[in-house]
Amino acid sequence: MNRPKSIRQLIEALQKFPGVGPRSAQRMAESIVKMDYETAREMARAIVRVKKSISPCSSCFVNTEQNPCEICSDPERDHTFICVVEASEDVIAMESSKSHNGLYHVLGGNMNVVKGIGPDKIRVKELLDRVRSGGIKEVLIATNPTLDGETTASHIARQLTGMGIRVTRPARGLPRGADLDYLDGETLSHAYKLRQTVDPEPEREI
Ligand SMILES: [Zn+2]
Repeated sequence: MNRPKSIRQLIEALQKFPGVGPRSAQRMAESIVKMDYETAREMARAIVRVKKSISPCSSCFVNTEQNPCEICSDPERDHTFICVVEASEDVIAMESSKSHNGLYHVLGGNMNVVKGIGPDKIRVKELLDRVRSGGIKEVLIATNPTLDGETTASHIARQLTGMGIRVTRPARGLPRGADLDYLDGETLSHAYKLRQTVDPEPEREI
């Protein structure tokens, strides 16, 4: 006997999650089948609710339920200082470390030369537009300390050169390959306080 069609469809759908292959999708589907009806329905509703209510902030691109987001619309924050991160989750991590009182800019990923992800595939242009529109004094490039994160940071630092602003990176000493949103608040805020001004590397052919 083949698997019932609805279970096959569920297994297929679950494989859309990153890192979930056929085996784990099958296990997840099995546990959904065993779940009581209310729990399963609440799970399905939570997915729909998030899709209906979350969209990127039109200024900093963090996932938000209001636009502009609560950070961009807070007059108490330093609107001359932008912290550039890869993902919305990094904003959450920075916020819980309570180190940054400025604004953010969510790139939505990293450049990756091998995969052909250039600066046009992430929100670099949007960042440059924000800086060009004036009032910005410092941009802290807090991409993750991975190879892709470093490539992205160097590219952005070069683009920002000559725009009359201070460009900084978190202090070295963040564990290499670390994800910002997995670091503890103390490590993050230490790297933040000791941030260093970037001396942009010369343009390389990529
Ligand atoms: Zn915002």
